[in-house]
Amino acid sequence: MTMIDDNGVVHVAMLPSAGMGHLTPFLRLATFFLSHNIKVTLITPRPTLSLSESQLLSRFHSSFPQVDQINFKVESSLFTQSPNSHMPIPYFQMIDHIRTSAAKALSPLLSSLSPPLSFFVSDYFMLSSVLPITQSLSLPNYLLFTASASFFALYSYFSTLPSSLSELEAVEIQGIPPIPISSIPPDLVAPNSIFKKVFIEDSSQVIKVDGIFINTFEALEPEVLEAVNAGKVLTAMPPVLPFGPFVPCEFEKEGDQWIKPLKWLDDQPRGSVVFANFGTHTEFGWDQIREIADGLVKSGSRFLLVVKDGKYFNGDDKNEEVGLEEVLGHELVDKVRDKGLVMKEWVYQSGILSHEAIGGFLSHCGWNSIVEAAWNGVPIFGWPQRGDQKMNAEVVKMSGWGTWNKNWGWIGERLVTGEEIGDAIKVLMNNESFKIRASKIKEAARKGRSVGGDCEVTLHKLFKK
Ligand code: UDP
Ligand code: UDP
Repeated sequence: MTMIDDNGVVHVAMLPSAGMGHLTPFLRLATFFLSHNIKVTLITPRPTLSLSESQLLSRFHSSFPQVDQINFKVESSLFTQSPNSHMPIPYFQMIDHIRTSAAKALSPLLSSLSPPLSFFVSDYFMLSSVLPITQSLSLPNYLLFTASASFFALYSYFSTLPSSLSELEAVEIQGIPPIPISSIPPDLVAPNSIFKKVFIEDSSQVIKVDGIFINTFEALEPEVLEAVNAGKVLTAMPPVLPFGPFVPCEFEKEGDQWIKPLKWLDDQPRGSVVFANFGTHTEFGWDQIREIADGLVKSGSRFLLVVKDGKYFNGDDKNEEVGLEEVLGHELVDKVRDKGLVMKEWVYQSGILSHEAIGGFLSHCGWNSIVEAAWNGVPIFGWPQRGDQKMNAEVVKMSGWGTWNKNWGWIGERLVTGEEIGDAIKVLMNNESFKIRASKIKEAARKGRSVGGDCEVTLHKLFKK
């Protein structure tokens, strides 16, 4: 089968699921395709889960007017008539609605596209609803796995595991280090979560896709990539294509608000600032936010802290104005202002990580954050909160450019004290070997992404097929 039509056009349709953690990598991969003269059609479920997603999509489409944009409506009685309204709806319930809606909407939509599609890129949260459709159209289907290769190993192996994981001590998969149950996403250990249902339904379908793009690269996860591609995880594994790091794009900057922290960083000494940011849906209670601020002050480092206190799922990513003083108290606020900058809104994280004043990253270990830190050579102290984040933190630890503390638990399990956070940041900011390893990782990341680097080689191989 050739992927190129008679007029030499390669045309891909891409369908991301909900959440910034899915949308961002899809748009970055789309940008890579566009820069290699591939025609892109982007299909997006509406309404989006958050305002950030719909704004990011608008900026993407303004930057790339040549991309065909197709929306399909997510069917749920939980949404009002307005297709743009952002209703509070639990994350995995939204995922479930998207799966059902996609299965209904996609078939007529895909066959009507012109020029005809060369291949399709599915989200791993939608595989079993999309695969029968692409199969019936004989359309090559590639999976974009938006998490790590380590998490992919677990995902692809999942349907072979016993139905209850809670009795196991660790999940053992050939070729990769055992994964302690305490590091497996709690939703996969719980008996009846939607996340687990999605995993079980989709995991067994992985062998039917034509290939899997992962936002990772050889130097970041060498052992796991070797294991998956050598058939150790599944004997019939399709080619797993480490296609990262996905690089941040111009259109991701929003308005002018990204400028403020960068201006502040311009005045700080090189490598002196610890950046603390916890992704798009970590909602700490005020008591935990106070401990974080206290820990940052105790660390003695300068810091840039981003706090989000729980309004994300109202579709309004800018938190309601609760003053910093009200959360932290006068005394702590004064200390914080002395050494740090606190932002209560969306920041342009990849821009911040690329600033030379940043010396370390206290991160929730969302996979995109990890790859962005790798791209910029910034050491990480991981504070995983949920989902795959403990496994991601372990990837960083294994490759030697950061660490994490297993005793901090999942979000809300216990209050992590300012003392502990302060000590962690001291470890992070003073460890020379983290810095050396991080710059090696950065070098490898840049090499893979360069002209003629691993990503281009992979793309060319794909089209030769
Ligand atoms: N992000 C950002 N500004 C913020 C919070 C997050 O730019 O204030 C971006 C971040 O750079 C990353 C994505 O949002 O690209 C979050 O993805 P990740 O996988 O790290 O975490 P998630 O939010 O999905 O848990
Ligand atoms: N997640 C969760 N509860 C939520 C929202 C997200 O547990 O309310 C976790 C979940 O583990 C899932 C992941 O976040 O795997 C998906 O979030 P996202 O789409 O932003 O991507 P990721 O965090 O994997 O980068």
